Amino acid sequence: MDIKSLYLDELIEEMKSINQPAFRAKQIYEWMHTKLVSSYDEMTNISKDLRSELSKTYPLTALQVVDKYVSKSDGTIKYLCALNDKRVIESVLMKYHHGYSVCISSQVGCMMGCTFCASTIGGKERDLTASEMLDQVYRIQELSGERVSNVVVMGTGEPLDNYDNLIRFIRILTDDKGINISARNITVSTCGIPDKIRSLADEGLAITLALSLHAPNNEIRKKLMPVARQYELWEVMDAFSYYYDKTGRRLTFEYSLAEGINDEEDHARELSKLLRGYNCHVNLIPINPIEERKYVKSNSKKIQNFKNILEKNRINVTIRREMGSDINAACGQLRKSYLKLGDN
Ligand code: SAH
Repeated sequence: MDIKSLYLDELIEEMKSINQPAFRAKQIYEWMHTKLVSSYDEMTNISKDLRSELSKTYPLTALQVVDKYVSKSDGTIKYLCALNDKRVIESVLMKYHHGYSVCISSQVGCMMGCTFCASTIGGKERDLTASEMLDQVYRIQELSGERVSNVVVMGTGEPLDNYDNLIRFIRILTDDKGINISARNITVSTCGIPDKIRSLADEGLAITLALSLHAPNNEIRKKLMPVARQYELWEVMDAFSYYYDKTGRRLTFEYSLAEGINDEEDHARELSKLLRGYNCHVNLIPINPIEERKYVKSNSKKIQNFKNILEKNRINVTIRREMGSDINAACGQLRKSYLKLGDN
């Protein structure tokens, strides 16, 4: 039983089963999700005997930070955290003018196979539990001493391939009896799985959804993302429209630019056509080259030109600042270099 992944009403039921009153469950929930403690010993309003009983029946675990890298250029901090089974994940703390944002992983590795991404090279090892996702936020807030206001699920893994744990994570994260992060300040990024996007739309959560688009048509998208062989682009765009209709949340499209692949003027014009009529925002990201792949980052002039064409077509667009590029900021690169060290 993973006690930190339980909703409050489930925890109340669980405590009932060991003859504990509802208020005990509320106390424990508060210690875990508001005070962010990592052990029963810290729950000082609970008797020692009960604490010891609880720790046997419901082991309370917390991520262990095994390494930390601070960017000299912008203060971005990358954390490498060990899970109970000794597997390692990475999470990032970024400082923006509007506050602190944590980027979390949703799986150990990934099975989606995007050809430019470091996280998918070794495949998926396993899904993360809701508590392992929560703990990335909790531990980083505790260690940094900074109040985290935004959470982006853009680290390693495909969140919609770990759907049930993702929903549990979001509901506990936004609970006003917990750390109480506003749903509006949460972004989930997906490679685009239509039926899961529709289910998410039906959950009634006001989170922002981002699609890793990376191409103006399915032909190019297929070369970059194997998932595009499974679903046609129109199916994904249809599901995105459904998400907008249901939630009213402006859509985000991520577009990583790789030289000679998807960064030509024609691509920008085709993308403008594709996105016409959507209430959306495009994030242009210079592709972050990884050593295992041949992709080259588009130069800044080309990216600016790409942006200008989108703007001429009245599409909201920004070029994403590259945070912490001096500390292997691209998806999963740090974890990979860490694992490699271990192999030697
Ligand atoms: N699986 C999810 C979230 C994880 S990846 C998704 O596909 O959206 C977060 C974002 O980083 C995605 O847009 C992904 O395509 C992008 N990304 C991964 N590796 C990258 C790289 N080397 N350079 C630029 N963007 C990359």
